[in-house]
Amino acid sequence: MYIEIDNVSKMYNQHSGNSVKALDGAKLNIEKGEFICLLGPSGCGKTTLLNLIAGFEKPSAGRITINGEEVKKPSIKNVTIFQNYGLLPWRTVQGNVELGLELLGLERKRVKEIAMEYIELVGLSDFRKHHPYQLSGGMQQRVAIARALAVDPDVIFMDEPFGALDAMTRMKMQDEISNISEQKKKTILFVTHDIDESVFLADRIVIMTPYPGRIKSIINVPLARKRDRTHADFLAIRDKVFMELEMKEKDKLEYYL
Ligand code: ADP
Repeated sequence: MYIEIDNVSKMYNQHSGNSVKALDGAKLNIEKGEFICLLGPSGCGKTTLLNLIAGFEKPSAGRITINGEEVKKPSIKNVTIFQNYGLLPWRTVQGNVELGLELLGLERKRVKEIAMEYIELVGLSDFRKHHPYQLSGGMQQRVAIARALAVDPDVIFMDEPFGALDAMTRMKMQDEISNISEQKKKTILFVTHDIDESVFLADRIVIMTPYPGRIKSIINVPLARKRDRTHADFLAIRDKVFMELEMKEKDKLEYYL
């Protein structure tokens, strides 16, 4: 197994003096190239689990390995994409995509070539001289994706990356990241609380529940890409997810309001 999460728990001490069990006995194995969505309501430990695998936090108990090596700190082989894009405002689109490649110490000509390739992949060739403030939210997130992919990472961590986007842009970005994951076969861990997003993107959906944060179940999504959000098979898996999350009819209605 490529990533092994072996009985991992995480306690946080809060200001009040109480401690919170953000994650309780998580067990999960992930294969190379899999697209995994961590899905569940707010507070169920999705971000905690992502941060533990990415090495930003240390487990209180249990062990995480990537490619056989215990995760002890963030690795330059992995990248994280956040909701707020994390772009440098004083750099152009091209400058932002080049950043990671510069940090890898590649020669200038190669840096430029690779950056151009990924700017094209995300459809921003005409905007490479623009600065982030001149771009829409969706375009800024595409720059962040191009920058992340350009360094050819082993694992991409995405924490609600489309959470700040409007519904239309969000669906477009879901299409793009789904296409990219198919083309580039990257291992992706993606946090979301959006059921449709998880069914659209994931090879497997890891369903989490809160108090304490636990992995409740894992649902396979054996649908070919590019997925049709209105197809009966898509809707059947979505219903299964609703059931696993123990959403009653009333909750389902609220989810859509
Ligand atoms: P999710 O991403 O599913 O919303 P989180 O992993 O952010 O859940 O949080 C899980 C629980 O751990 C929550 O109760 C949250 O308040 C708590 N928690 C998360 N991070 C910290 C922290 N740094 N300090 C204290 N408590 C935290």
